[in-house]
Amino acid sequence: MVREASDRKAVPVEVPAESPEKLFGELVFNRARMFEYLPKGVYDELVGAMENKRPISRRLADAVADGMRRWATEHGVTHYTHWFHPLTGGTAEKHDSFIEHDGKGGVIEEFSGKLLVQQEPDASSFPNGGIRNTFEARGYSAWDISSPAFILGHTLCIPTIFISYTGESLDYKTPLLRALNAVDKAATGVARYFDPEVRHVRSYLGWEQEYFLVDESLFSARPDLAMTGRTLMGHESPKNQQLEDHYFGAIPSRVEAFMLDLEIECHRLGIPVKTRHNEVAPNQFECAPIFEETNLANDHNLLLMSVMTEVARRHNFTVLLHEKPFAGVNGSGKHNNWSLGTDRGTMLFSPGRTGDDNLQFVTFVVNVMAAVHRHNALLKASIMSATNAHRLGANEAPPAIISIFTGKQLAEVLDVLEKSSDADLGSLAGKAGYSLGLSQIPELMLDNTDRNRTSPFAFTGNRFEFRAVGSSANCAAAMIVLNAAVAEALEEFKEKVDGRVDGGMPLREAILNEVRALIVRSKAIHFDGNGYSDEWKAEAARRGLDCETSVPLIFDAYLAPASVAMFERTRVLSGVELVARNEVKWEMYTKKVQIEARVLGDLALNHIVPVATRYQSLLLDNILKLRAAGLAEVTAEGNVEAVEKISRHIAAITAGVRSMVDARKAANAIAGERLKAVAYHDNVVPLMENIRYHIDKLELLVDNELWPLPKYRELLFIR
Ligand code: ADP
Ligand code: MG
Repeated sequence: MVREASDRKAVPVEVPAESPEKLFGELVFNRARMFEYLPKGVYDELVGAMENKRPISRRLADAVADGMRRWATEHGVTHYTHWFHPLTGGTAEKHDSFIEHDGKGGVIEEFSGKLLVQQEPDASSFPNGGIRNTFEARGYSAWDISSPAFILGHTLCIPTIFISYTGESLDYKTPLLRALNAVDKAATGVARYFDPEVRHVRSYLGWEQEYFLVDESLFSARPDLAMTGRTLMGHESPKNQQLEDHYFGAIPSRVEAFMLDLEIECHRLGIPVKTRHNEVAPNQFECAPIFEETNLANDHNLLLMSVMTEVARRHNFTVLLHEKPFAGVNGSGKHNNWSLGTDRGTMLFSPGRTGDDNLQFVTFVVNVMAAVHRHNALLKASIMSATNAHRLGANEAPPAIISIFTGKQLAEVLDVLEKSSDADLGSLAGKAGYSLGLSQIPELMLDNTDRNRTSPFAFTGNRFEFRAVGSSANCAAAMIVLNAAVAEALEEFKEKVDGRVDGGMPLREAILNEVRALIVRSKAIHFDGNGYSDEWKAEAARRGLDCETSVPLIFDAYLAPASVAMFERTRVLSGVELVARNEVKWEMYTKKVQIEARVLGDLALNHIVPVATRYQSLLLDNILKLRAAGLAEVTAEGNVEAVEKISRHIAAITAGVRSMVDARKAANAIAGERLKAVAYHDNVVPLMENIRYHIDKLELLVDNELWPLPKYRELLFIR
């Protein structure tokens, strides 16, 4: 079969005449636009509400909506949508035009505050885990004023939360905002020990998005890629990433044109993308912005993922956001760089210049370690999915065990603190005590070259990097758990310290005592060694860290008593919400595997087996003719062997598909989403791997001319 890649000439990208400063945020209703389009009083009231997280009145909403519509229509906008993040992943939109009846038989353009602030999308087909019966299909979407509206194409997009009629969250944004509030409150309480003027603590997120690009026409010729986002079959290319010549290599011009175009679109939407480079695998790339407040950063990541897909189309590429589109080469992740900072400008994970600064730094770091330790199983559950399961635990990726890498210098500081006696702690609390090593942190920490790439959760000098997050994930899932767990730890910490102070202990000493207690208690989470080694798996199990590898069972962590208690205490998710959301997780898992199994069965029986059979017949024909010509003994030998091998693989595939269909039927008959997902994981997935094995063997045997699918060597190399 002849397969043509798309016209390989790069689509010329016009570098805009405008500088990035001019373009930046052009399509965003940001403060500058608000100032321009809203009356002064309205502007002040809105900004006040945004800063103090106050609800806005209907009157204010009307005035804001009017200004927003005027601005949007000047940019050719005709429709608006409430933009939200359903539990399916990705984003959802329902477009309405601005027109309303004018009462005289015509229409006028209108956009009221009511429509801006709240909508009732008919949401019965969004997953809700049983919270909302379909006959009560109403869900509410409500404007999140902390994230600005923006224009996509001809549509004004209003970032919203999505909740049920009874107030339960049906999305990612609602619990994320709650978790950010919880960590703000808890961290502010602790930060005030060091600076009583602190009023708020913000959570920051800087994501690094990895992705693959494939030629659009080759993508279209792969039904598995088109329907599941990954290749369900395909023999390794003789060359892939062994030479390590792709990482940070020169970016092909066709790709560079795409990246430039993407960056321009991002800047217009206010997404501060800054970094781009090749990743480890062929055709794999990364883009990263400057970090932002977590809620906004997350909106921007979701927006990036959809903009990327659009821009790629203009360049005859398809973006693959799947965590493992190709077996045998690296998968894609999305490192979540995360930190906390006060409204007074202190970054709480940055070592400071004075002993006091460093006590604050150590306090916050140790609380993160305690939170990650207590909730390591839950953090793993937050990043786990049917797609990310192909990456975690595999060769290049972090293992399916959460641990924290601190680096040598921080480890030494923790060690000194841990080993100090009560008497030392007493003197540590005085100025002289800092000679124990704390005062050296600033200089030492500047050097963070000893980064450990095998750790799923690493301290990198001024932030933590949660690396286990999947490339297609909504970062909110991880950010909800992390921020809420840290909020819980900080609240407990404050209670204990306050208790000691009430008992007459000096504050510094009380803090040091609690810091030491946390270091001792959360020791098991600290691991600076090679996370990919088998020894680590055994060691982690000994340490009591969660080592579960089955996706459906990993989700159980959300319902563990310690998780429910943490979510309820921080008011991030209720027990009812947790149960419902897990139903959705299991259902999504089952559906993803089910679709893959169907596509695989279809491709195996309708594409691969017929072609292999045809080639087998050609070989048989050849063997018969050779025999007729009296040449059989020597020349037909290779072909006879090939025919035998092909027969065995075809038989294995046919039997494999039959067993897989049976396993699916048995799983489908199971009542209850959890057990169904477990059956898919335990009984269907292994059969899929076996079918693939035989197909990949056939790929090496069957005539290349006949093979119906583009091969890895074609998909993976853009010229
Ligand atoms: P790496 O060296 O890990 O590949 P970079 O240095 O490019 O990555 O940074 C990765 C991301 O981390 C960027 O999005 C950057 O803005 C973000 N980042 C840097 N400092 C912080 C911080 N204090 N809090 C959150 N994110 C941060
Ligand atoms: Mg990084």
